[in-house]
Amino acid sequence: MTWFSHGAVTITGRFRSANEDCYLAQPPLYAVADGMGGHGAGEVASAIAIEALTVCAQRPPLSAVAVLAALDDANHAIVDRGSRAGTASGDGVGAATGMGTTITGLASLETGGGTHLMVFNIGDSRVYRLADGRLDQVTIDHSEVEELVLAGQLTRGEARTHPRRNIVTRALGTDPPPTPDHWLVPAIAGDRYLLCSDGLSSELTDERITELLATGDPQAAADELVSAANRAGGRDNITAVVVDVAADDEEDVGADTVPRPVLPRQGEPT
Ligand code: MG
Repeated sequence: MTWFSHGAVTITGRFRSANEDCYLAQPPLYAVADGMGGHGAGEVASAIAIEALTVCAQRPPLSAVAVLAALDDANHAIVDRGSRAGTASGDGVGAATGMGTTITGLASLETGGGTHLMVFNIGDSRVYRLADGRLDQVTIDHSEVEELVLAGQLTRGEARTHPRRNIVTRALGTDPPPTPDHWLVPAIAGDRYLLCSDGLSSELTDERITELLATGDPQAAADELVSAANRAGGRDNITAVVVDVAADDEEDVGADTVPRPVLPRQGEPT
């Protein structure tokens, strides 16, 4: 039997007046959403996305189809809310309010081959996996700078300070709807996952994330990561959800019997 333990924290940071990040930590579904569109829009969009996934989590058994349907429902709801906000302000139906949100997450699914973790993503929030001391970014950012890095026009280091590093190329709240990325990875006991908004990943290096993520129980690790990102700058809202995978008996541990797929590193040819 596979089970999960988690810790989660979100803070406004040192410069923003409101927290537009939102998270869900309701096993077996975890998610982070980073709203955009400014005060009064971003936090509405991220809350709509998390609410849609909360409803999904309350209707077991979870399936990939159900998670993707929840994301689609959230997209429609945000577009609808944005249109009404545009009307109210006299901009006309469908006016671009800029209301949107990233969404990334982790869902445990029972598949034909046992328990698997579905990782899903739209935008530039991230899911990382820490396994055997090695940190891998599972998700691929949907951002202008990621496209430039993949095209070989920008290095990872340059992307971290590029003036357009915050521009996402996919978000919930768009018409036509965005296509979510999703992957299935084996649920291996001992693995630890980090879901975070860019307010965390843009302030901390991979080495620092690895070091802090490896320390303590999930709540302590989440607290340490968010505090460190705040001390390092705190220029954006900061959210971390840390999830540990555990198993009740050796047969389900899997590490000795299931070959661990090697995830391509960001920017490596696949
Ligand atoms: Mg952010």
